[in-house]
Amino acid sequence: MSKLCKSCGNYYEGDHCDKCGYGDPNLKTHAADKYKKPTKPERFRTEEEKELYAEWEKEKKRTLR
Ligand SMILES: [Zn+2]
Repeated sequence: MSKLCKSCGNYYEGDHCDKCGYGDPNLKTHAADKYKKPTKPERFRTEEEKELYAEWEKEKKRTLR
């Protein structure tokens, strides 16, 4: 079953994201912020994705201050 990456929103198989490396202990994932953009139109989003995007919005507000 695919997992939704908490860092970039990509779906991945296995134990780490193949797009940003999230979950891979050998890789630093601090550069993943550039991927934190919703890539789907709102009506096609799953509940899981909506939650994740809401998290990103909160993070953005925190870092913009
Ligand atoms: Zn990722």
